[in-house]
Amino acid sequence: MMLGLTASEIRRALLLKFCPKCIVEDEEGYGEAYWHRSHQAFGVSVCYKHMCRLVDSDIEVDQRHKHEMFTLNNYLKRRSYIFETVFDASDAKRELFIVQQSYLLLNCEFPLMGIDQIREYYVFKLQEKGLATESG
Ligand SMILES: [Zn+2]
Repeated sequence: MMLGLTASEIRRALLLKFCPKCIVEDEEGYGEAYWHRSHQAFGVSVCYKHMCRLVDSDIEVDQRHKHEMFTLNNYLKRRSYIFETVFDASDAKRELFIVQQSYLLLNCEFPLMGIDQIREYYVFKLQEKGLATESG
């Protein structure tokens, strides 16, 4: 078990996902829909912006196709996706929490820290809680 996942779950093919509402907005705003990074995070199944279920494509996220370009627009043309298929997920509190936290992590700027600074930070935090001595 790794990260709370069983081995059988890890082997499962992960698919690129998209939000039907983001597609409409992307096309209106940029002239083309694109794969959103925040939709691809592991465990994310809801759009952080529209609170609707993401739709799985049939494009696997793996290294076999690393030299191929799969644009979302081409995928949608090939599959004739029907935009009426939008499922609200605003009542899925656990999933919304995961989505919001993933979005924050992907879009915040962390200060650059070396391994020594990270160690010092954690030792300091442990000392604050009385779980480490001054020598660490
Ligand atoms: Zn969306």
